[in-house]
Amino acid sequence: MSVLVYAELDSGRFKKATLEACSYGVALATMRNSDVAAIVIGECHESELLQIVECGISKVFRVLDSHLETFTTTKYISVIQSIVRENGFNTLITSQSYNSKSITPGLSIRLKSAFISGVVGLPRIEDGKEIYQRMAFSGKGVEEVIALLSDIVISVKTNSFGVNKNKTGELNVIPFNFSLSDDVNDIVPKEIIKTSSTISLTDAEKVVSGGRGLKGPENWGMIEELAGLLGAATACSKPVADVEWRPHHEHVGQTGIQISPDLYIAIGISGAIQHLAGVNSSKVIVVINKDSEAPFFKSADYGIVGDAFEVVPKLINAVKKMKNSL
Ligand SMILES: Cc1cc2nc3c(=O)[nH]c(=O)nc-3n(C[C@H](O)[C@H](O)[C@H](O)COP(=O)(O)OP(=O)(O)OC[C@H]3O[C@@H](n4cnc5c(N)ncnc54)[C@H](O)[C@@H]3O)c2cc1C
Repeated sequence: MSVLVYAELDSGRFKKATLEACSYGVALATMRNSDVAAIVIGECHESELLQIVECGISKVFRVLDSHLETFTTTKYISVIQSIVRENGFNTLITSQSYNSKSITPGLSIRLKSAFISGVVGLPRIEDGKEIYQRMAFSGKGVEEVIALLSDIVISVKTNSFGVNKNKTGELNVIPFNFSLSDDVNDIVPKEIIKTSSTISLTDAEKVVSGGRGLKGPENWGMIEELAGLLGAATACSKPVADVEWRPHHEHVGQTGIQISPDLYIAIGISGAIQHLAGVNSSKVIVVINKDSEAPFFKSADYGIVGDAFEVVPKLINAVKKMKNSL
């Protein structure tokens, strides 16, 4: 039951979600008393690879090929499939990044494996079977899943397991030479446009989000200022994106991006079920709303009943004061 983790690089760096997948793979292999390795595709500094070692993975299959410099699903599926098959791995672990989400279904078909997406912890064992848990009904329930095949592809829900970088070991890099056959049909990305230089919403550990209670786009300065001070990404509710107060890529919820940051601050957002579906697995939720009956307060860890235009400037000043005193 050996485990392979797809350690995805993003511009030569490992994101937190990747290190979380590595930590999960190590814990699963330890639980099964089996081997664990990682596959890294593309260029990166050795110090990045050492982070994987700190997570507990020493054996790293390294693929360097100019055809793989840009991510495309078919090529990445082909190379990961080859490593899994040639080395007899029967469990593949990935994060839930956009790229990983786009390859895991195809990989599970190619590998004739079960696919369990978005697991939120290690499985428990019942009658010798591994029972995995994942969120269901927009986070309102927990679903228990058993794989009916011995080979499994598992994606780990972001921020559900955590990163454990407390191990030591010797890095053992195994170069994997892979030649893509000419019949691999694929798309060729012409241009990759990064949305902005600010923190990406899906990877953010802290998110400051605004809703219709903010009255108009001209009032987002305080949201951005608070986010900047906290090192947070900005987000918004759907109606706010619909009327173009904010860009669509900031819209979180059932029909938007689903996030699980450590801290989610919701300002002037009512907390409709469709909004909660995208944010309720955040570790700590802070709600600022002038209506004490706003449904969001039921899901909040901390709530402030008050006018956002009074509360947020006070919060900004408090954070500034705290930072200055450090
Ligand atoms: C199929 C479907 C899918 C949907 N998907 C999504 C989704 O993905 N994401 C999403 O967000 N919504 C989604 N919605 C819409 C959702 O149902 C709500 O309408 C929406 O989330 C409400 O946005 P809001 O909280 O910003 O606005 P409102 O509901 O208008 O709430 C504004 C809140 O601000 C508070 N407020 C007002 N003034 C102030 C002030 N000065 N200070 C503090 N608080 C103040 C009010 O008390 C109120 O609670 C979906 C709806 C449907 C039907």
